Amino acid sequence: MRLATIQTREGPRAAALREDGFVDLHATDRRIPPDVKSILEGGPELLRLVEEAIPRGKPIPPEEARLLPPVLNPEKIICVGANYADHAAESGVPVPPEPIIFCKFLTALCAPEQPIVLPRVSQEVDYEAELVVIIGKAGRYIPVEKASQYVAGYTCGNDISARDWQLRKPGNQWLLGKSFDTFAPCGPVLVTRDEFPHPLRLPIILRLNGQVMQKSNTDQMVFSVERLVSYVSQVCTLKPGDLLYTGTPAGVGMARKPPVFLKPGDWVEVEIGPIGVLRNPVVAES
Ligand code: ZN
Repeated sequence: MRLATIQTREGPRAAALREDGFVDLHATDRRIPPDVKSILEGGPELLRLVEEAIPRGKPIPPEEARLLPPVLNPEKIICVGANYADHAAESGVPVPPEPIIFCKFLTALCAPEQPIVLPRVSQEVDYEAELVVIIGKAGRYIPVEKASQYVAGYTCGNDISARDWQLRKPGNQWLLGKSFDTFAPCGPVLVTRDEFPHPLRLPIILRLNGQVMQKSNTDQMVFSVERLVSYVSQVCTLKPGDLLYTGTPAGVGMARKPPVFLKPGDWVEVEIGPIGVLRNPVVAES
């Protein structure tokens, strides 16, 4: 199943993607809540209603649907640093013995096609293609063997990073460097877990103005999705709709010689196997 959030005249609505377009789920069946997070909170029973509603809905052609982030109102955006060995090497850091976890402010969320805004206080804004896990069930102290049951599905993400803030402010401001408004592009759709073979082996690519800058596979992660979910759940209760950015492979702009940073007029695309393409233009702050 492919779930999305689309902008309609009635406001943002949970939708499912069919071959001929998006179906407004709440309009098709009033028992289905109008937002994706509430649908996930409803668990398997509600997902069955969604599955039944999809063929009955009236499709909105993809070209007429304005996409919003698949989960509009997550409780948390959790991220992982240095989770691909080749990216750790290009960043000059050793492969960590345990996951490096940080987070982004929720105000950083950015829809597909929405401009990434270059803040006037940074000169070094970089891209990072990432697989994003969307949590489907609340849990604490989740064992690794059961972790996949807590995953609703996956989408594409771009962990936009102001390197001058992240690496050269006192104390290394990872949170601030990665939390400027629009620094968490996410989408286009949430593809449910049942559509993926296990273990995950998804090609992940980032293109900048059409040129491939990152090209890897999610099977190169240091810590698997299951281990990350289990690890973070030692600290906080994971909730339906929470986003987990799982780290980026080699090829980021700061590691290039000379470095490549985002500039107004750029287009960045993250493509992950069967999920699709997350595409964003880049603009200067007005
Ligand atoms: Zn990252």
